[in-house]
Amino acid sequence: MHDQVNICDLAFGELEAFVTGELGLPRFRTLQIWQWIWRRNARAFDDMTDIAKDVRVRLAERCRIVWPEISLVRKSEDGTVKFLLRLADGEHVETVLIPSTDKAGTTRMTQCLSTQVGCAMACTFCSTGKLGFTRNMSMGEILGQVQAARAWLGDTLPERPIIRNLVYMGMGEPLLNLKEVMKSLETLHHQRGLAFSARRVTVSTCGIKNGLRELGDSGLAYLAVSLHAPTQELRERLMPRAARWHLDDLLAALESYPLKTRERITLEYLVIGGLNDGPEQARQLVRICSRLKAKLNLIPYNPTPDSPYSPPSPEGLLAFEKMLWNKNITAIVRKSKGQDIEAACGQLRAAQDAGMFGNA
Ligand code: SAH
Repeated sequence: MHDQVNICDLAFGELEAFVTGELGLPRFRTLQIWQWIWRRNARAFDDMTDIAKDVRVRLAERCRIVWPEISLVRKSEDGTVKFLLRLADGEHVETVLIPSTDKAGTTRMTQCLSTQVGCAMACTFCSTGKLGFTRNMSMGEILGQVQAARAWLGDTLPERPIIRNLVYMGMGEPLLNLKEVMKSLETLHHQRGLAFSARRVTVSTCGIKNGLRELGDSGLAYLAVSLHAPTQELRERLMPRAARWHLDDLLAALESYPLKTRERITLEYLVIGGLNDGPEQARQLVRICSRLKAKLNLIPYNPTPDSPYSPPSPEGLLAFEKMLWNKNITAIVRKSKGQDIEAACGQLRAAQDAGMFGNA
C-alpha cells in the first residue's frame, strides 16, 4: 500500500488536482472538503455529513486527516496558554495563545506559531536556538497548530472566531522554510477557509536575504524583523548566524521592502540588561528607525536557564524607552506574558527535553 496523502498538507489547487485527478470526483467536491477541513475543523471523513457515504469511503481509502496532537497544556495566571504539540513522527513543537481584551470587553487570542522543529540560527539568547535544527514543518503542521488550538478553545468559524491574530514567532525561522510558510499564508487567506486577512498575520524573521522579497511581494502578511542590536558588531555577538547578512544590507532591503498604505515594518528589539540598553545604543537605534517606515517593539529579555544574559532593570528599561520617545520614536514595551509557564520561545520544549514533566 502506498503512503496515504495527508489532506491537510494540500493547498487549494493541490486539493483540487487530487480530488478531480486521483479520486476522480467532480470539481465541486473540492470546496466541500476544503470547508470541512479548514472552516469546520473536521477530524474524520465521516464527520463530513453532506458528502455521500461512498465518497467518504473513497476519501478514507486514499487519504488521511492528520493534525498535531496536544501533548501538554499549561495555563498561565495571566491567561496565556501554551501547548506542546506532538507531530506525526513524534517530534514536538510549541504554540502559545496570548489573550487580549477588545473595546467591547471580549477576549481575543493572538496565536504564536512555530514553523520548524528546532532552529538552525543559534541566536545566543534563545532556547530554541540551543535545541538545534531537526526539520521543517509542513503546511498542515504549521496550520495544524491553529486547528488544535481552535478545537481546544471551541472556536467555530464563522460564528465564534476567538483566535484573531497570528504571529509566526514560535520555534524556527520562517524564511528558512519558505515554501511551506508561503503555502500556509495562502491557505490562511482563503475566503472559504480560515479567512485571515493579511492584516491579522505577522511573519517574524531574524533577517534572511532569500525569501524576504518574496514574502513582501505576496502581500499575505505583515513583516516583523528581530533586530536586537543597532550595530553589526553587537548583532554578531547576539545572533552570529543571522548577522552573516550584514546589518547595512538588511537595512537597505528593509528600506525598499514593499509596504501597503499605512503599513509599517515591526522592529523587535530584545532589551538585555547592561548589554544593548545604553544611551549609545538608543542613539544608534534612533538613526535606524528614522531611515525606515517602522515601529519599534521593545521586548524585555525573558531569562532562560543557563543564560549569560539578564533582563533589564525596570528603571533601565524606562530610561531606554524615554531616550527613544525624546527623539520621536514610537517604542512600545511588550510585556512578557506567561512567565510562570516557560512561555519564551523554545522554553517549554527545552523543559520537556530536560525531563521536567516526565514522559509526555
Ligand atoms: N526566527 C524568527 C521567529 C522566531 S523567534 C525571528 O527571529 O524573528 C520570535 C521572537 O522571540 C524573536 O524576536 C526572538 O528574538 C524572541 N526571543 C527568543 N528568545 C527570547 C527570550 N529569551 N526572551 C524574549 N524574546 C525572545
